[in-house]
Amino acid sequence: MLPSGPARDYRSSHVSTVVRPIVRSYKWPHLERAASWVKAGGHAVVWISPRKARLVFARPRKGDESDLGWWSALDLGRSEFSVARRGPFSGMAFIRVPHDCYGIVRERVARDSSHPGATREMQLDCLACAACCKDNNVEIEEPDLERFASAGRADLARPPYARRDDGKIVLVLRKDKRCKHLADDNRCGIYAIRPDACSTFPAGSECCLSAREEELGIVDR
Ligand code: SF4
Ligand code: SF4
Repeated sequence: MLPSGPARDYRSSHVSTVVRPIVRSYKWPHLERAASWVKAGGHAVVWISPRKARLVFARPRKGDESDLGWWSALDLGRSEFSVARRGPFSGMAFIRVPHDCYGIVRERVARDSSHPGATREMQLDCLACAACCKDNNVEIEEPDLERFASAGRADLARPPYARRDDGKIVLVLRKDKRCKHLADDNRCGIYAIRPDACSTFPAGSECCLSAREEELGIVDR
């Protein structure tokens, strides 16, 4: 899994309703059908050949760090996307699916095969879940350091709360892999000043679904 750390305002309301894209697989030459699926809100895995796949999704709005298409790409190890300039996908975003992620996109398609529409509404109770606060790799960035300092908690960027990892500052996990700030009732102990990586993590994203599956064994079939 990529980034992580949950928590947006849902921590105060517990349950949030999210609408997530449903993933379908299309083979060449059914590109028009794939484009229609994406226009309806879904994600399309388009197989140009058995060794060449693209993930196509609606172009994220500029500055929208919670866009589910972008997080879907992030979950495949891609932090950037291209935009198609011509053809059926014109104006849509796409990434090349890495070969070692073919299994992951096939699993997404299998998981979503029972959902009929291009999108699906889900109720997620983050307080009952907290999967993304476990076994994660939350990076602390400059804005986080400034926020910690303003709150008189500059210590949050140092041991025992944070450590250096390959030149980056990351949150420390306990031996049981829970974030050090995660309380037994699944509340975040530094919620008001939590890192941006946590506050921008979108419920219902592929990273969220992966965390729920890995930590809790919950698959959204
Ligand atoms: S700081 Fe830790 S407990 Fe708080 S939201 Fe981030 S990962 Fe979860
Ligand atoms: S994994 Fe998803 S549902 Fe669970 S706490 Fe994180 S954002 Fe909420």
